Amino acid sequence: MHVTGQQLRAALIDGTGKILETRDAAISPENTVERAATVAADLGSKTGNVLAIGFAIPGLVNRQTDVVSLSPDLPSTIRDGLHSDLMRATGLRVELENDANAAAYGEFKVGAGRESRDMFYMMIGNGIGGAIILDGKLWTGSSGFAGEVGHITIDAEGLECVCGNTGCLETVASAPSIVRRARERLNRDSTSSLSRLGLTKNFTADDVAHQANEGDDFALMMIERTGKYIGTGVASVINLLNIERIVLGGGVMDAGQLILNPIIQEAKRRAFQPCFEATQIVAAKLGRDAITIGAAMLAQDAALS
Ligand SMILES: [Zn+2]
Repeated sequence: MHVTGQQLRAALIDGTGKILETRDAAISPENTVERAATVAADLGSKTGNVLAIGFAIPGLVNRQTDVVSLSPDLPSTIRDGLHSDLMRATGLRVELENDANAAAYGEFKVGAGRESRDMFYMMIGNGIGGAIILDGKLWTGSSGFAGEVGHITIDAEGLECVCGNTGCLETVASAPSIVRRARERLNRDSTSSLSRLGLTKNFTADDVAHQANEGDDFALMMIERTGKYIGTGVASVINLLNIERIVLGGGVMDAGQLILNPIIQEAKRRAFQPCFEATQIVAAKLGRDAITIGAAMLAQDAALS
């Protein structure tokens, strides 16, 4: 299961990670546990043999205590009894996990990370998350928070980030940051206009990517610059971990080669060359299902181990 602001997405998967059934439900802070239990019961009735539930949350999950420590998007999940309430309500083993960790595990098992042993995953969407898989296992750090690549500093003089630091990668390369940067530039440059770009007043990062795909110069430049920022972060990951494979997922990567190419070029330019040459940088394969598949596979593997 994967919860976001007002949505719960659940998938019933088999032992190979194949999705058998999915459910989407609207949730509120008050009814999340109850809705999760209803959906679990519904999916459970399809097979009668659900082993465990993986519950992915956009926030930091302390894996020692099974408590969400931080979640700007879903503050209602930060409470002591969430894990035990979910287990009681569903009658099943529940694994709470950070959404990027879950997506990384999904990509590693059945997506773009297959057949690698060590992998770094980056999820670039409304925020930027990351996860490290070493020797086939999620390496979550001493308290479960490892991989927060979105909060490495790209610009020491940059804008304030939700985390309190300034100039984090997330402040320039997340989907809302792309919109903000595009807006700032459009406001400065009187020859550019939203209408010329086919952008509406409330345009999104997807719209910018779409316009870039249509060949618009300005949109293309915005996507390329975003790729450069991400590539700068990727170079740091390469230098730090000398990792076999880096998988890039999340909504911002929907721009495809238009963003992947500048990421690879910038990583090549900045990373220590022998490390860069040892790393494959690839786009994720599972799309938005990565989180639900990965959460379920984490829970499955935990239950079987
Ligand atoms: Zn930050």
